[in-house]
Amino acid sequence: MASHVKLSELVHAQLQQAFEHAQIDATLQRTLQEAKNEITLHFPVRLSNGQVKLFRGHRVQHNNVLGPFKGGVRFHADVGLDECRALASWMTWKCALQNLPFGGGKGGVEFDPQQYNSEDIQRITRRLVHSLGTNIGPEWDIPAPDLGTDSQVMDWMMDTYSNIVGTPNKQTVKGVVTGKSLTCGGSPGRDEATGRGVVHCIVQWAEQLGVDLQKTTMALQGFGKVGSHVAQILSRMGVVLTHVGDASGYWHNPDGFHPHQLAQYVRENGHVKGSGMGKAISRKEFFSCTCDFFVPAALHLQIGLKEAQNMNCKVVVEAANGPTSQEAEKVLQKRGIEILPDIMVNSGGVVVSYFEWLQNKRSEAWSLEEVRVKLDKQMRKTHQYVTQQALEMGVSLRTAAYVIAVKRVQQAYMRRGIWP
Ligand code: GLU
Repeated sequence: MASHVKLSELVHAQLQQAFEHAQIDATLQRTLQEAKNEITLHFPVRLSNGQVKLFRGHRVQHNNVLGPFKGGVRFHADVGLDECRALASWMTWKCALQNLPFGGGKGGVEFDPQQYNSEDIQRITRRLVHSLGTNIGPEWDIPAPDLGTDSQVMDWMMDTYSNIVGTPNKQTVKGVVTGKSLTCGGSPGRDEATGRGVVHCIVQWAEQLGVDLQKTTMALQGFGKVGSHVAQILSRMGVVLTHVGDASGYWHNPDGFHPHQLAQYVRENGHVKGSGMGKAISRKEFFSCTCDFFVPAALHLQIGLKEAQNMNCKVVVEAANGPTSQEAEKVLQKRGIEILPDIMVNSGGVVVSYFEWLQNKRSEAWSLEEVRVKLDKQMRKTHQYVTQQALEMGVSLRTAAYVIAVKRVQQAYMRRGIWP
């Protein structure tokens, strides 16, 4: 683990590598390293037990040259400004890479939702939206679910916002957040979208190398909104989940876990611990396990130098944002372990967020089939382009993905110029 590293430094270093391969002038480089706006809020909430507590939240708006700021809201005890900065920047690159008319943003509230009941989470959410006021909006900054938040939180956000904007606009502001429930204007397929996108990348990687998925194994860190879908979809394709772990511990099952049963267990219990489906192993054993796909789908900076030296997989599939430190990446490269980079791999979520936003704008309701076909096409196109650019430029998939994204943003800056 490389938790001493500041997350924003990781994005800076990754961007710097892209700058070396794309001709970006020094002023623009500086602009792209910084966020446009950083908002920190303190707001009081009257909790269900009658007590009033002060909460701290952040919203970082990194870039909006291609469209409204876009990105998730985290409810997590450790979510600080630096983390939001990095994650907001990644959103800019994710959206640009996928050619979406969105920029990048990210936010969070510093608290552990597991310590609060649903009524209190609702109160915190509503006060957050009230405090943010016009800093969010369907054409300005569009939050979405992330760590510790879900469609219920998004429904409360949308409802609070629509009550703030006033009667005539109530119906037109549904697109202020994405990841809502179907009943409240969400899109079919949004909940599985990030996981499905991860799977597309794995499938294409295997296709390109002629690898038979039926003969592959996977280790998965994190069995939440992203990881559980990855495991379930891949198991239908014959990939065997031999190692799994989350904040509650790590487990091994040489015959393979049953992802559907495990998902059911995690839904009911909130963690993998106690499922009785495998043998407990240490974190070190988990990170040095032999497998084809190693999928970090939990928190950032999980793969540090030590982990990278011991890993025994063919490819690291970055379903989480920023799971690999810079030093670890160098080691993995030297050891011939490929990395499918986060801004490509986990971008399926924001792609379907875009579909949801479009449906809200047009008062349309697409079918699940339609969403899946569109997502599939989009992921395929992006994956092919990144692979082709990496080959042509002789760089890693990560650098290729960044170069594509950075150039799209650069072109918009060049055409628009600086005003006045
Ligand atoms: N939180 C997700 C991410 O990191 C989704 C963002 C969105 O849909 O706006 O990509």
